[in-house]
Amino acid sequence: MLLEGKTALVTGSTSGIGLAIAQALAAEGANLVINGFGDAAKIEEERAGLERIAGGKALYSDSDLTRVEAIEAMMAQAIGAFGAVDILVNNAGMQHVAPVDQFPVDKWDLIIALNLTAAFHTTRLALPAMKAKGWGRIINTASAHSLVASPNKSAYVAAKHGIAGLTKTVALETALDGITANCISPGYVWTPLVENQIPDTMKARGLTREQVMNDVLLAAQPTKKFVTVDQVAALALFLCRDEASSMTGANLSMDGGWTAA
Ligand code: NAD
Repeated sequence: MLLEGKTALVTGSTSGIGLAIAQALAAEGANLVINGFGDAAKIEEERAGLERIAGGKALYSDSDLTRVEAIEAMMAQAIGAFGAVDILVNNAGMQHVAPVDQFPVDKWDLIIALNLTAAFHTTRLALPAMKAKGWGRIINTASAHSLVASPNKSAYVAAKHGIAGLTKTVALETALDGITANCISPGYVWTPLVENQIPDTMKARGLTREQVMNDVLLAAQPTKKFVTVDQVAALALFLCRDEASSMTGANLSMDGGWTAA
């Protein structure tokens, strides 16, 4: 199997894109460290399920990645258990929508901490072991919003542009170490997060389900189709292959043509 003996840590992997990436990497034999919030029994079911897929080990970290000490504890847990994090997927993220002059200061701080600063900390803590092994993969879930803006999403857009810049810098610094750093920039992905917005938007705007999906959510996406979590996971898996060893510092769009417009 492609990733047998390797360890992947995927932040924000109790749901959505991160969960799909964890499953795709586990299916190739990787050990997994999963992280995120949610119902304890469901998370344990997920963790055990990851071990059943192909026999790798899976650990869960409940670290809140807006706190540096919690990130350090998660990285110490992962490296203590497996010796290294060979594949680091910085995926946890959150959103808040408000005009910049009314943007709650605490939300700004949280979004920058989770969507940007957490990736700096995990990266700096993962790199020494990656360098020692001469192999590593850093995959950051950015967004179409790492390339273009939308109104009312100042913190998210700033953090996502920031993570694209961090990715490029790390790629240059590690280019001679057998390590690649790339980001994946999805458009709208069909996750529970997106699905749960539909009933409220239908009510608030007096629209049908189809109108909400096409005229509100997918207005910016020329294909008028949601990206799927499995599509994002397949790209993340590809980045782990030897065939992807010359891909580094890239910002890979998967957005149904959104940023081509
Ligand atoms: P999601 O809400 O389904 O998953 C978010 C994950 O992050 C969950 O596991 C949650 O528990 C975890 N998380 C939240 N706060 C955390 C914290 N403080 N510490 C640790 N974990 C925390 O979201 P998703 O749609 O799967 O998004 C995953 C990533 O993809 C995010 O970075 C998001 O910005 C990005 N993204 C999503 C879309 C989309 O349309 N869904 C589009 C582009 C980019």
